[in-house]
Amino acid sequence: MKKLIFALLYATRLVSVIAWLNRRRIPILCYHSVTDSENPVQPDPHKQHIPLHLFLQHLDYLKNKYNVVSLSEFQKAKRENRVLPDYSVVLTFDDGFEDFYKVAAPHIGRRKLPATVFVITDRADGRFVPDGESFLSWDEIKELSSSGIDIGSHTCSHPRLPDLSLPDVTRELSESYAAIRLHVGQTQISLSYPYGQLSQAISRLAESIGYSCAIANDIGRNDQNTNLFGLSRTVIASDDDIATFAGRVSGLTEWISVARRLFRSETDVSCEPSFSKRYGSAAAQSYIDSSFFTQR
Ligand SMILES: [Zn+2]
Repeated sequence: MKKLIFALLYATRLVSVIAWLNRRRIPILCYHSVTDSENPVQPDPHKQHIPLHLFLQHLDYLKNKYNVVSLSEFQKAKRENRVLPDYSVVLTFDDGFEDFYKVAAPHIGRRKLPATVFVITDRADGRFVPDGESFLSWDEIKELSSSGIDIGSHTCSHPRLPDLSLPDVTRELSESYAAIRLHVGQTQISLSYPYGQLSQAISRLAESIGYSCAIANDIGRNDQNTNLFGLSRTVIASDDDIATFAGRVSGLTEWISVARRLFRSETDVSCEPSFSKRYGSAAAQSYIDSSFFTQR
């Protein structure tokens, strides 16, 4: 049902109208893992492992319709109070899955698109790696950095930061920051809060440690009024066909989410975002599902 409605909105060009209305508000797109056809991840209940063929359709759509800017350029423009070109968008990847190096990065490089990958630094050290999963090593991270990919922090161990004591949060943020400085030599380091969870104290701490910005999990786009340490992002689901993807990038899903919040009854908890126990938000459930269209 969801896909049918997005297809209809896409075909009638309503998505293009919404994209035009939102053209000055910048989405930070968030992917997790990109898999090649020989190694699909099944099952994928949190919709975080997008197949390469779909991912390439997304990249080509962005290349043709949008102006992909780096997270660094986005921050610079924001600090200088400079307006970026219409239809600007930022491309990011959470968790530092190894398939970013092996599958995604070559295609991003070929299209000369800027991107940021947020790594879990303990995993890059080879520590606490869950069974059956692979993460970027420091050698791969260094190579990516040399090729122009920005490296950001997703903390040391990917905890729910608000559940930790302040000294433990400090350790997670400062040690991952130091590890990236040490291995990559990058001076401007951005942060992606695990599960998008933060508090005012945590965002202040991130700023004081030296991070340049931090991305949360709020659905939405960013403009001059958005706090650099509470940036919103747009999570992409692994089964987003091009019509659904276009709807997400345009801001359509953000509007629908707002509408859902306005009309949702107090007892309806089924639409709340759900989370992968390990890595964060389930994109499809964070935004929209067919229940929106059938409940009211
Ligand atoms: Zn994560």
